[in-house]
Order: sequence, then structure tokens, then C-alpha cells
Amino acid sequence: MHQVVQNLISIKEEIKQNLSDSKDYKVPKIIAVSKTFGMDKILPLIEYGHQDFGENKVQEAIEKWSVIKSDKNNIKLHLIGGLQTNKVKLAVQLFDYIHSVDSEKLAKKISNEQQKQNKKVRVFIQVNIGNEEQKFGVNKLSVSNLYSYCKTLNLDVAGLMCIPPLNKPSETFFKEMNEMNKKLNFEDLSMGMSSDYLDAIKNSATYVRIGSNIFGKRN
Ligand SMILES: *Cc1c(COP(=O)(O)O)cnc(C)c1O
Repeated sequence: MHQVVQNLISIKEEIKQNLSDSKDYKVPKIIAVSKTFGMDKILPLIEYGHQDFGENKVQEAIEKWSVIKSDKNNIKLHLIGGLQTNKVKLAVQLFDYIHSVDSEKLAKKISNEQQKQNKKVRVFIQVNIGNEEQKFGVNKLSVSNLYSYCKTLNLDVAGLMCIPPLNKPSETFFKEMNEMNKKLNFEDLSMGMSSDYLDAIKNSATYVRIGSNIFGKRN
């Protein structure tokens, strides 16, 4: 069995073992974050039956995924990186989920493209939960306004998404995200990466985005 498949299986086992005694946890979906990795690493996962994959750059994703996605329509592709409005058209064409909606301008553009292409994507509202200067994401005080705006556009908002600050423990940020997500009655919550996915799941994440623990170190 290919190493990446073994890694995925171990992560699933670990999640099960760590959380089997907490009462109300939902088995989260694992987004295999394949950015920078080639199809030689990705295909074994697809063959194994894994469906959710994440990329952070539109152009790279088009090159890697266009063909295989038109072949296998059970694959769900998630855009987890920041999205510029001039790439929205291509993003809506390729992706099933966009995790990085953080402005009215972007929301509007996605909605327009969906109508033009007659295609629907599910979106997450990205929250700048650490209030960091150089980061994507809407300020947490503006989340519910942005959500209301998305509803007027008929966007299918699955839930909130965050990338907590690198240099601090994630857990308090995950708690806060969970509370905000519940208040807004969302079904899904996208948080947790290789270093902190167990904490994320304890705080009700339904999508964890795992790259290096599956594929190995990136250059
Ligand atoms: C790269 C990336 C991940 C995965 O990171 P790992 O630490 O390799 O698991 C998750 N989310 C986002 C937004 C990313 O850009």
C-alpha cells in the first residue's frame, strides 16, 4: 500500500481513538491538501477511494485536476487559499467548495459567476480569528453582516473557516470559532491542519484540512 494511503488510514484511526469517548462529535471529513504535490502522490488516494482534496492556488489546481475531475465526478475539490476576484471565473468552473470568502466583493463575484455558468459551489466564510494584519479573512465583528449579504445573493454558505495564528496555541481560537459557528446555525466548520486537527475536531470541526501529515513535507 502506498505511503500516503497508510498515512490517511493512520490519521483516521487516531481520530477515532481520540474522540470515541466524547459524546457529540461528528466524524469529520478529511480534506487531503495536495498543494505542491504531483499526481504520483495523489492518484493512490483517489484509487483508495478518497474524495475530498484541497488546493490553495487556482492555476496549479487547473493544471493538476481538470482532466481527472471530468473523469471522476465523485471527487470534491476544495479551494482553501485566498481568491482574487479575477480568478473567480476559473475557480467556480473547477472547484466544488470555496473556503475563503471574506468580502462582499468576492461574494458578489462568485454569485455572478455561478449564474453565468449555471453551477453552484458551497462556500465557507473565512474569519481572521487572530485579528492578524497580514491575513485573509473577515474581521470577526463583520462575520454576521457578510453572512447576511451572502444570503441575499443566494450563496450556499456551509459554515465558517479559519487559519489560527501560527505562533499561538490554536485551541482558544477553535473554541471561539465553534461558538460563532453555532450561533449562526451552520452545518459545517472548516478548521484544523496537520499540527492541530485533534483540537479542531474537539471543537466541532466537520472539515479538517491535512497536508503534510498525509503527503509529507513540502519544499
Ligand atoms: C497548506 C494548508 C493546509 C494544510 O497544512 P498542513 O500543515 O500541511 O496540514 C491547511 N489549510 C490551508 C488553508 C493551507 O493553506
